[in-house]
Amino acid sequence: MNSRIKKLGTLLSNQIAAGEVIERPASVVKELVENSLDAGAKKIELDIEQGGSRLIRVRDDGIGIHADDLILALSRHATSKIADLPDLEKIGTLGFRGEALASISSVSRLTLSSNTANQPSGWQVVTEGTDAEPEINPVAHPEGTTMEVRDLFFNTPARKKFLRTEKTEFDHIDELIKRIALSSFDVNFILRHNQKIVRHYRAATSSMEQIQRVDSLCGAAFVEHALHMEAQASELKLSGWIAKPEFSRSQADLQYFYVNGRMIRDKLLNHAVRQAYHDVMYGDRHPAYVLFLKLPPDQVDVNVHPAKQEVRFRESRLVHGFVLRSIQDALAHTHAGECAASGEHMPKTITEKTAALTYPIHRASMPVQSVQEKMAIYHELHEVAEKKNTTGNEVPPLGFALAQLKNIYILAENEEGLVLVDMHAAHERVMYEQLKKQISEQKIISQPLLVPLTVNLNEREVNHIERHQHLFHQAGFVIDRIGTLSVVVRAVPDLLRDGNIEQLVRDMAADFIEHQKSSRVMDSIHELLGTISCHAAVRAARRLTIPEMNALLRAMETTDHAGQCNHGRPTSMRFSMAELDKLFLRGR
Ligand code: ADP
Ligand code: MG
Repeated sequence: MNSRIKKLGTLLSNQIAAGEVIERPASVVKELVENSLDAGAKKIELDIEQGGSRLIRVRDDGIGIHADDLILALSRHATSKIADLPDLEKIGTLGFRGEALASISSVSRLTLSSNTANQPSGWQVVTEGTDAEPEINPVAHPEGTTMEVRDLFFNTPARKKFLRTEKTEFDHIDELIKRIALSSFDVNFILRHNQKIVRHYRAATSSMEQIQRVDSLCGAAFVEHALHMEAQASELKLSGWIAKPEFSRSQADLQYFYVNGRMIRDKLLNHAVRQAYHDVMYGDRHPAYVLFLKLPPDQVDVNVHPAKQEVRFRESRLVHGFVLRSIQDALAHTHAGECAASGEHMPKTITEKTAALTYPIHRASMPVQSVQEKMAIYHELHEVAEKKNTTGNEVPPLGFALAQLKNIYILAENEEGLVLVDMHAAHERVMYEQLKKQISEQKIISQPLLVPLTVNLNEREVNHIERHQHLFHQAGFVIDRIGTLSVVVRAVPDLLRDGNIEQLVRDMAADFIEHQKSSRVMDSIHELLGTISCHAAVRAARRLTIPEMNALLRAMETTDHAGQCNHGRPTSMRFSMAELDKLFLRGR
């Protein structure tokens, strides 16, 4: 290292700033679309080529940029959105740092064309990712702005190496536009990839149109199981859609939280939502929601993260409490809804008082099956257990069941002392290993459904299922695509015939997308088996008989890796008499 200090050139310092905010094409799209929204655009058209690495063009009908400001707009620390510290402390726009365009232009070839209401023509400025001072030229352009970003990272090869396939990069853009479209209902979005229209989200003003947009973005099933909610307490307002607990997800992949229109991930808010669902959802499931929190801009600091994905609340405890209570209230009424879904009385309890707060968007069109654990599972366990069975008077390693604790743990006694078993985790592991074995021996038993089941999903999920049909087939499923947004399930693994197939198919699709391990066939199959076993496994909170418990213990003893569930949690703990004695300070 040279010990003398030099001031960095503009280009290099902009490229350093770009390192923070411009990770991939989708980050460019985010900055450009946010600028369009800040400019009041009602129509935003995006043209993407080769996943965005060749071209990203964003055209809007916003207020435009004045000719005199064009070059300034591209320089760092130049913004029209704030002027002084008090402004910084109450930000009402998505952008404010004044560095996105400078960063983008330092790592690409950028053409900015724009026109405002009172100019005779539009103006254009072209940059080539160098330090050269750009010039501006007149150009025909309607009121609004077009940003054209070509050859992203062409001058920063190390960055370019991190780009994934065209398809993956486009998927990121698609997902981003989805997130933005979910919050900007009144804006018309058109997204093209390689000259083909891929998405068109029409402006949605009426509440019916809004629900349609949520439907097209989050899937019909979400809408079908969602409650609309609105809650207000002094200056805080929370609104949006939350899924009833029965529509829980295996991944946290349907969670959209916006604070003053800005999509964010926030531990505090996540925690509040999780806690609200706590009593009505199993620990390893994830709720689905689209929520909008509005509060005065001076109550929230958005200047805490370079890509502005996190915020800090001035009154965080107040916000946490408000979000928690509002969702809890809304969910409280779904208990009645659950009865309704299982075919009994419709929710008489959703009366005038609560209707103001929540209303079901649709009634569940189909009875929602609870996960039914049938004795069949235990017969299978018995079979496994019987293969090795225990001869003579020997006490087996996991001992014999004494009782069940809170319907979650099995208490058993073995030669050394006490054995505690997490019933769901253990059963899940046993199922998983059994399925794995069946697959390797090609003995998976597939059971045709008497009535094929149609499952509505989003397009991405349907694509994934279609692309990996052979894997599902190996796992005992027969699933066909029957439209852009639905699949039909014709057969399922025998083990699952009584389970909630619809939920399972959703989970498998979501898990697949999450793990993206599609190229590694065996991994993917195991991923599927994991999801299947989790569904097939007996739920915590189900009471088992002593023979059922013993069957599970015996099955665990003959199963590989039975010491841990598929999620890596232990399935059992043992306490020897000596350890127990120590706990009670009992000398022997
Ligand atoms: P920021 O959004 O943080 O202000 P940017 O570098 O993204 O910084 O943009 C700089 C400025 O350029 C903005 O403050 C705005 O005045 C102007 N600008 C950028 N994009 C647009 C657009 N699509 N329409 C109108 N003005 C824009
Ligand atoms: Mg900006």
